[in-house]
Amino acid sequence: MQLHNLKDETQQVSFVEAVKTGLGRNQGVFFPNSLTPIQDIDKLLDLDFVSRSSKILSHLIGDELPADTVAQMVQNAFNFDVKLVEVEKDIYCLELFHGPTLAFKDFGGRFMAECLAQFNQGEKVTILTATSGDTGAAVAHAFYNKPNIDVVILYPKGKISLAQQKLFTTLGNNIHCYAVDGSFDDCQSMVKQAFLDDEVKQKLGLNSANSINISRLVAQVCYYFEAIAQLPKEQRSKAHISVPSGNFGNVCAAMIGAVLGMPVAKLSATTNQNDTVPRFLQNKEWAPNDTLESLSNAMDVSKPNNWPRVQFMLDNEWFSYDDFYSSCVGEEETKEVMKKIHQTGYIAEPHTAIAYQGLKENLADGSAGIFLATAHPAKFKDSVEQILDIELPMPKPLADALAKQCLAEDIKFDYQLLRTELLNKLA
Ligand SMILES: *Cc1c(COP(=O)(O)O)cnc(C)c1O
Repeated sequence: MQLHNLKDETQQVSFVEAVKTGLGRNQGVFFPNSLTPIQDIDKLLDLDFVSRSSKILSHLIGDELPADTVAQMVQNAFNFDVKLVEVEKDIYCLELFHGPTLAFKDFGGRFMAECLAQFNQGEKVTILTATSGDTGAAVAHAFYNKPNIDVVILYPKGKISLAQQKLFTTLGNNIHCYAVDGSFDDCQSMVKQAFLDDEVKQKLGLNSANSINISRLVAQVCYYFEAIAQLPKEQRSKAHISVPSGNFGNVCAAMIGAVLGMPVAKLSATTNQNDTVPRFLQNKEWAPNDTLESLSNAMDVSKPNNWPRVQFMLDNEWFSYDDFYSSCVGEEETKEVMKKIHQTGYIAEPHTAIAYQGLKENLADGSAGIFLATAHPAKFKDSVEQILDIELPMPKPLADALAKQCLAEDIKFDYQLLRTELLNKLA
């Protein structure tokens, strides 16, 4: 796979380089120069999840990794279920929360850990990542106790749920957590500054595990094919997929799948009140507001890092603007939708409810709709219980994490403080 920096076309890198570097020059993200459709999609859809995912990833990555190596990495990373559940006639929920940290980010995080273990044999690596809620846990669990790898996680203090937080701040050992006095965008900007800091970058062997990293995106392509494979055959070509979007990595993966030839008619990327992209599509002005705190806090992002990748595919007509919808669902509406879904007998947490609403708004008659459940309802126990007036049982991984002590340290939103801390502790 040959990739280029979307801010500087002259920076050309291989897949291995893109994974190891994370972010390119001028803070540009890497994207494949081209995507070749996969032949015989029907045959591909007939395979089981792990075999099919190995084929898709080998196709994408190309000859940089032997097929049997990729197959082994996929088998290690994707060791949990993907379920498609029909919640109403022709409306399906793609449950992506059956991994160790109960959110879809386990797919990308675990595959990225496999990639770095392959590429960085023996060298010291520090994964530096900002989390708006679920990345931290997925990355921490994927890299926990891996030799020669330290993980540093920044999160906005008090702005993520206790369950989300305790899934990563209680691990210790090679997982170092900082509660930042600021928003997710502030955390993300400190990560970006560290990557521009050559001394820190060199001494720590910095790598980012944000959805900036291409290895996470390619991994996520695989569950979209699985969703289509689980649909009744006659509905496949009419699928409309709705993705709750914050940093726009997940919907970017869906679009890559479509470019590879996955049968999908339309895509919706639905945001919460942080609606930079829906406004941009309406008036072509990129005007991020301050980030607002929402029930769907993993989507509290006003400067989505992956939007340039999505826009690249749209501008180059790899996917049609006509088939791409992006709207925003406000806080009150999110609650109403959660109640409406509950009446059908299904329990959705806020992010999932936003995806459902984004689907219902634009679903054409006769289409099959798929909305993504990106997190387990228990991960948002407090808001789900309060809004739906129910009691949720705690799944065991969460109950275990909640019983442990938080090991995170507080830090101000000040890059110099972080820099000193990291150089003292990890260099
Ligand atoms: C990260 C996250 C999202 C947003 O995904 P992006 O790839 O950032 O758009 C949605 N829902 C949940 C539960 C998440 O953790």
